[in-house]
Amino acid sequence: MKHFLTLILTLVLSIPALAQDADNGLTVLMKKHGLSYSTAQATPTICALCGVDAPKDCVAKPMDFILTAAKDKPTMEKVLIFCPDATGKFIVKKYQEDWKPVYAASTHVVTAANVLPSVTPVCFGAIFTGCPPEVHGILQYNDKYKPNPIKVETLFDAFSKAGKKCAVIAEKNCSIDLIFRGHQADFYTTKNSEESVATAKKLLQENNYDLIVCYDGNYDSTMHANGVFAEKSLAAMKDSIRYYTELVEVADQAWADKNYVSVFSPDHGAHNTKEGKGTHGSAQASDAIVNHFYRLRYVK
Ligand SMILES: [Zn+2]
Repeated sequence: MKHFLTLILTLVLSIPALAQDADNGLTVLMKKHGLSYSTAQATPTICALCGVDAPKDCVAKPMDFILTAAKDKPTMEKVLIFCPDATGKFIVKKYQEDWKPVYAASTHVVTAANVLPSVTPVCFGAIFTGCPPEVHGILQYNDKYKPNPIKVETLFDAFSKAGKKCAVIAEKNCSIDLIFRGHQADFYTTKNSEESVATAKKLLQENNYDLIVCYDGNYDSTMHANGVFAEKSLAAMKDSIRYYTELVEVADQAWADKNYVSVFSPDHGAHNTKEGKGTHGSAQASDAIVNHFYRLRYVK
C-alpha cells in the first residue's frame, strides 16, 4: 500500500513537469499535424550517435528509432549535414521518382514538424540547437540580422566541447551564414550553392573536420520567384537531390574507414500564393512538415 501511494504521489508530482516538458514551441505543429517527431530532434540525435553530450539547453530528445538502430553499434566519428532550403514533404510526395536517390542514400526517414513561424532562421535555429524559438532566441525572420541571435548552445558548441571540429558552409548573408556566428564552428561563406557544394567536397577530401554543414538555398529562391512547381524550381529541387548524392559519394571515399552519419535536413516546405508565387511561414502542412533523411554508415 505504501509503495502504491508513493507511486501515485510520484505520478501526480510529475504531471506539471511533463506538461511543461511537452508544451513548448516544438510541439505546436507536431500536435496540429499528429506527428511524433520534431525537426529539432536532429541535434540531440546526432549528439547521441556521436557520443557527444547534447547542448546544455537542448529541449528535444534523440529520436528513439534511430537510437534503437544504433544500439550496440560503435559511435559515429563523422557527420555530414546537407540543408536544402524549403524542400518539404509536399514536394517529395509529388515527385517520388526524382527523390529515389535520396531514399536510396538513407537508412532512416523521419517525417517531422518544424516550428512557427516556419521561416528559415527560426527553423534552422531549432534544428541546430534542439530548442523551440522561445528558447533559442530567433522568433521572426528579421532576427537573423541581430548580432548573435542564437542565445543557447548549438550542435557546433556541443561538438567543440567534445574536442570536435565543425565547418558551416553557406552563401553570403543567408540565414545559416549569419545566425550561428559567434558559435564554435569555422564559417565558409560562398557566392552560391554550387560553390558551397564544391567547398564541402574539398573539406571532405581534406578530412580536417568532424562535422560539415552544407547549405543550399536554390530551391527556396526559385520557388519564391516562380512558384513551388515551376520548371525552374523543379530544376533547383533536382539539383538539391544531386548535390546531396554527390556529397555522400565523396564522403564515402574521404571517410572510407570511418563510421559516419549523413543527414538531408530541410527547414520547411512551401505553398503557392493566389498569384502563383511560392511562400511559407504558416502552420499549414505544406510549410510545416518535412522529411529528414538519415544514413547511418558503419564500416567497423
Ligand atoms: Zn528556408
